[in-house]
Amino acid sequence: MDLHEKLKALGAENASFHTRLKKYETFTLDDRGIGTFFPLEQELMAKAVEIRKNACEPYSHFKVGACILGSGHKFYWGANVETADYRGLHAEESAIANMKSHGAENILAIAVAMKNSDGFPMPCGACRQKLYEFSEGNTPIIGVSLNDLNHIWRVDLTSIGYLLPNAFGRRNL
Ligand SMILES: [Zn+2]
Repeated sequence: MDLHEKLKALGAENASFHTRLKKYETFTLDDRGIGTFFPLEQELMAKAVEIRKNACEPYSHFKVGACILGSGHKFYWGANVETADYRGLHAEESAIANMKSHGAENILAIAVAMKNSDGFPMPCGACRQKLYEFSEGNTPIIGVSLNDLNHIWRVDLTSIGYLLPNAFGRRNL
């Protein structure tokens, strides 16, 4: 399956998918097996979980991984990178920098993975703004919560349009 077919498999050309992007849904893997997610969603989740291992988090000790599907249908990974000036990069920023550094224009979808016993693995406010500015349409956001064994136990599905409604961005300037 090539990436274009995978994008189709994600449902990006499917009306029900667009309806889904207007809300926020949570699934635990007890409710729904990982195999029931679209193949591209599974791939984004797996890559976000994998890159999370490379997080540099000497201050917060909180590892986050992100994987973007960029325009051109390539993957761009990033993990959080913290520095002593407290101006480190969040995983989403790291992935965006990776994407832009490689010349891709926009984000088609993103998965973010973190260990969180309470769930709600969503981008912070600053990252939501950046995701909005580099999104092509209403970008799907897949939040992946890991348990203490680093296994996925919960998946949250939503979109940048839901998380940041009536956003202000470069199109408004
Ligand atoms: Zn952030």
